[in-house]
Amino acid sequence: MILQRTLKDSITLTGVGLHSGKAVQLTLKPGRPGQGISFVRTDLPNLLPMAGHYRNITNTQLATTLGRGQGSISTVEHLMSALQGAGIDNASVEVDGPEIPIMDGSAQPFFDAIRTVGVESQRQSRPYLALRRKVEVQVGDKWAMVEPSSKFEVHGSIDWAHPSIGYQEFHYIEGHTSFSEISRARTFGFLRDVEALKRMGLARGGSLDNAVVLDESGVLNPEGLRYANEFARHKVLDALGDFKLSGVAIRGYFRLHRAGHDLHSQLLGAIFRDPDNFEIIDSGMYIPRRAPGIRAALAGRLAATVG
Ligand SMILES: [Zn+2]
Repeated sequence: MILQRTLKDSITLTGVGLHSGKAVQLTLKPGRPGQGISFVRTDLPNLLPMAGHYRNITNTQLATTLGRGQGSISTVEHLMSALQGAGIDNASVEVDGPEIPIMDGSAQPFFDAIRTVGVESQRQSRPYLALRRKVEVQVGDKWAMVEPSSKFEVHGSIDWAHPSIGYQEFHYIEGHTSFSEISRARTFGFLRDVEALKRMGLARGGSLDNAVVLDESGVLNPEGLRYANEFARHKVLDALGDFKLSGVAIRGYFRLHRAGHDLHSQLLGAIFRDPDNFEIIDSGMYIPRRAPGIRAALAGRLAATVG
């Protein structure tokens, strides 16, 4: 059994919104057991908190956007990925605008902040979803599938006819692969698309400081790539964040080819559409305060699992 986890304390980060180009303040706060990840727009006090859940996804173009009523929050995936990588079950995410700040285009600034403040176990077991059979979705030459596995693992591959990309892949296995292997991989885009987005009033905050930008022949960032397969690593980073929107820890082997936010959300929808696809395993165990021996033993096991 693994216990649920939250942050030891609150953290505030500031950055710019990728699309608005405006300054954004982001605060992460500890959450209570069973809460999950919830999102709050502090600039819209009448808007109720929204669950970080795939059913609240309103847009998957360019980024994953959650929405409720008149309020939305976009680009949640890199933060969700950092929360997944840090093993956080419960937290409140407060932001004073419609976007999570883009930071450097990766999940590293969020992951560093979480590690600085620390993570603590809570007195409630963590349920998990076990796949019972293969589920897959396909759109043209893009596909995403998940099969039963005793672990959470994601294999991502892309194949683009571009001198800096080509075929590349990355395989993340929770408990075996360090999250640091993918957390630094940045989002990427083509200069022609960035220019078109800017003409549409989008990507105003986009720059070489928060994305890998490519033209027809190569990478424009003077510092180059952080990894030869940074693109595939970022695809896996995105997938970890999007799959955390299932609202439950998943044990399954995901394989994704040329997939993106839309296919990730379609795959979650396909899993949950048929209850025969999965079962939720929950020991329902609650550890009373006066059981320090059990808690210490469980905490030791947890530390060994998370690494
Ligand atoms: Zn991304």
